[in-house]
Amino acid sequence: MNYETAWTNLNNKLREIERFHGGLSAALSELEIHQRETGFIKDSLKGIERVVFSHPKEKNYTLRAQINPRRAKRHDGSNALTLPKRHKFRNDGCFLCAENIKWQQQQRQIGFEITASRGRYNALMNPFPLLPNHVVFASKDHIPQEFSLLSQKRGAKELEEVLEDLCQLAHRLPNHIGFYNGVGAGASIPGHFHFQFFHRAPESPYFPIEERNFTTAKSGDDPEFILGYPINILRWQGELGKVVSNAVCWISNWIKSEIEPNERLSTNFIATAGRSHQEITLYFVPRNKNKQFWNGNRGIVGGLEVLGELVMASEDELALVESGMIDYHFIEKALSTVSMN
Ligand SMILES: [Zn+2]
Repeated sequence: MNYETAWTNLNNKLREIERFHGGLSAALSELEIHQRETGFIKDSLKGIERVVFSHPKEKNYTLRAQINPRRAKRHDGSNALTLPKRHKFRNDGCFLCAENIKWQQQQRQIGFEITASRGRYNALMNPFPLLPNHVVFASKDHIPQEFSLLSQKRGAKELEEVLEDLCQLAHRLPNHIGFYNGVGAGASIPGHFHFQFFHRAPESPYFPIEERNFTTAKSGDDPEFILGYPINILRWQGELGKVVSNAVCWISNWIKSEIEPNERLSTNFIATAGRSHQEITLYFVPRNKNKQFWNGNRGIVGGLEVLGELVMASEDELALVESGMIDYHFIEKALSTVSMN
């Protein structure tokens, strides 16, 4: 069977599952099974260990470390990126462009085409997952990751489109967490717009920021601010449309009034369906592009770290784990290096 037929057949099957047998979540589980069978997903989660540290006094406040020795090795070439010369690659061989995926991944990678509120995406499995069902939603078009308030580049999405699509996908995936990493705030592919989603880990489903208290909003439109957390985080909760319009209004004003030059600003957004599944929670993390790392020039802080799970992957990080240096306060200090103000 040729690649195009395999792509179409799998998409038909997944669409059927989404419509009649359990929604988008069930379709993505099936995509994951398929991508393991083709050998595209290299890693199981078996090598990953998660350690939860409680605050010495406030026992219900936690921070976590993810010990993941294989993450540091993922650029070693196991991603099969010797590009065959006879094929033309678009956009410098961008990993998220569907036209390149076929050749780069020796026809093993297939995406699931989905339509969100404002844009069309290919759902692609992450070959090196950090959590269960780790998916990248890559826009169909090769357009920049930065949204138009922060980017002069052609084709950049509006903030409203970004947040509407992120929240709508979170609503369709009630047991996943979704995030957007801005450029200089964890985005690994700044040239091609994408979100990441993963399923909550069964053994520790709720993340540290979800355990925290927030201030009460002054008026209905204002955000709530996280309390006692190493990174400044703002939150809106409620009905999807209202959450998006309040956030767009507040964030646009904030970006315009910020003294920091716009070229240095970046953001993380995190969206989850509420426990009742009727509500959406949207977190906004203002970021400075010059503060991307927690460990010198290593240890990128993106959406997962902002949630309160620090990935330890390099040799010196693993040595710190071995020596017993890691505790609640270590992670708190590491995360605080990226906080704005
Ligand atoms: Zn691309």
